[in-house]
Amino acid sequence: MRLIKKLQVKQITINDVIDKIREYQPDVDIELLELAYDFAKEAHKGQKRASGEPYIIHPLHTAYNLAKIKLDMPTIIAGLLHDVPEDTDRTLEDVEKNFGKEVAQLVYGVTKLGTLKYRGLERYAENLRKMFIAMTKDIRVIFVKFADRLHNLETLQFLPPEKQKRIALESLEIYAAIANRLGMNEIKHQLEDAAFQTLSPEEYEWVMSSRKEPERILLKNLEKIKKKILKELHDHDIETIVVVGRQKMIYSLYKKLLRKDRDINQIYDIIALRIIVPSIADCYKTMGVLHNMWRPMPGRIKDYISVPKPNGYQSLHTTIFTDYGQIVEVQIRTQEMHEQAEFGIAAHWHYKESGAIKLPQEQLKWINEIVDIQKKVNTNEEYLREIKLDIFSDRIYVFTPQGDVIDLPEGATPVDFAYHVHTYLGNHCAGAKINDKMAQLDSELKSGDIVEIIVDKKRKGPSADWFDFVKTRSARDHMKTALKKNSRGLFNLDLSNLRKK
Ligand code: MN
Repeated sequence: MRLIKKLQVKQITINDVIDKIREYQPDVDIELLELAYDFAKEAHKGQKRASGEPYIIHPLHTAYNLAKIKLDMPTIIAGLLHDVPEDTDRTLEDVEKNFGKEVAQLVYGVTKLGTLKYRGLERYAENLRKMFIAMTKDIRVIFVKFADRLHNLETLQFLPPEKQKRIALESLEIYAAIANRLGMNEIKHQLEDAAFQTLSPEEYEWVMSSRKEPERILLKNLEKIKKKILKELHDHDIETIVVVGRQKMIYSLYKKLLRKDRDINQIYDIIALRIIVPSIADCYKTMGVLHNMWRPMPGRIKDYISVPKPNGYQSLHTTIFTDYGQIVEVQIRTQEMHEQAEFGIAAHWHYKESGAIKLPQEQLKWINEIVDIQKKVNTNEEYLREIKLDIFSDRIYVFTPQGDVIDLPEGATPVDFAYHVHTYLGNHCAGAKINDKMAQLDSELKSGDIVEIIVDKKRKGPSADWFDFVKTRSARDHMKTALKKNSRGLFNLDLSNLRKK
């Protein structure tokens, strides 16, 4: 490895974990947490990390990462204990006896995933499947896994290069993708940046050096821009909670650069201004005030408040030409939207009072879908490809003519859309209109498109050509079923070469 990351300067202690928890739960009882720390320390006694440090450093960092996203006590305790049953002579029963059923079940969920040691594709696919099943039972299992993985990524340099690459790739392709689907942006970005640095050190360095100059110029005027905005909002009776410049994370900047011919001058959110205001009405009012002050860039005003992203993200975005000769992207949101944007589904634990937490079931449906995929595919290779394609590709959202939002993978076509809405619509799809214009059935849909399917009631079923361009598994499955039916009846189609697709 050309790039050797510096060892973390600060070593986390149990007191750091406690302080972090008290930031959001001032009156919390820490007795059980301290007991868990002693228990884990004793259990891992004599064990060392690859770095040579005492093993307890790792569960401590894991617990600290969980406290950073403001999780509840049982999850943080599970973070401290997550490697105990697998790596020490203390058993899961010991954990349950000392810390109760809830903690034990979380630890069990994490342990069941194994340490994801890479023993070929079979084992890997099996582990992933277990992980998704564990997530359907208690989503907090994946939070512990994220926290665990983050610390492992921070200490990767002590492992052999091959293993470094494998862990980094898996973090990027699987864990960051799951974090994204759960709306956990903070975690997603941290996983991505750590993995990216290991996977492509040269590209990582290139991004870091490309952004230096534009960032320097931006920062020069950012304070003045902030002040001016604050004053203007104050004059309009908008009580601003925060105005802050937020640096774009490295990997997401990299992906954007690749889309823009590697031209840094085409990127307007290297540093974006983020404004947090009390209410939704204030968000729109703020945008109005800004557009009155400075001209907005056409085509870059986005209203993710009325149409949230598929992962729940809400904000108003606009890009303005400030009179300091600078183009700045501004993101406007309420405090609640902000928590949702940073922590995603984990934000539901932040205001936990007594009783159960209501999770957004819509958002969790996809986890069950992944579990279902396993039942439908024959090989592990196919399974991995499917979950990457159907679940982890970037999502777009499009609309039915009635205004319903349909969430699809990037690159999806009108045929995918049709099957997603209804099997009948897919099987009888004869044409499509995108934003009121006739379009080819293989056109690539974009976020915000309004899609109308033209139905031919006499149509006998899907066309085999559609296999060349459909993107979703559900469309392919429905097409195969329909074609099979037809081949027994009207058509004599050879299905054997369709299965390979
Ligand atoms: Mn671990």
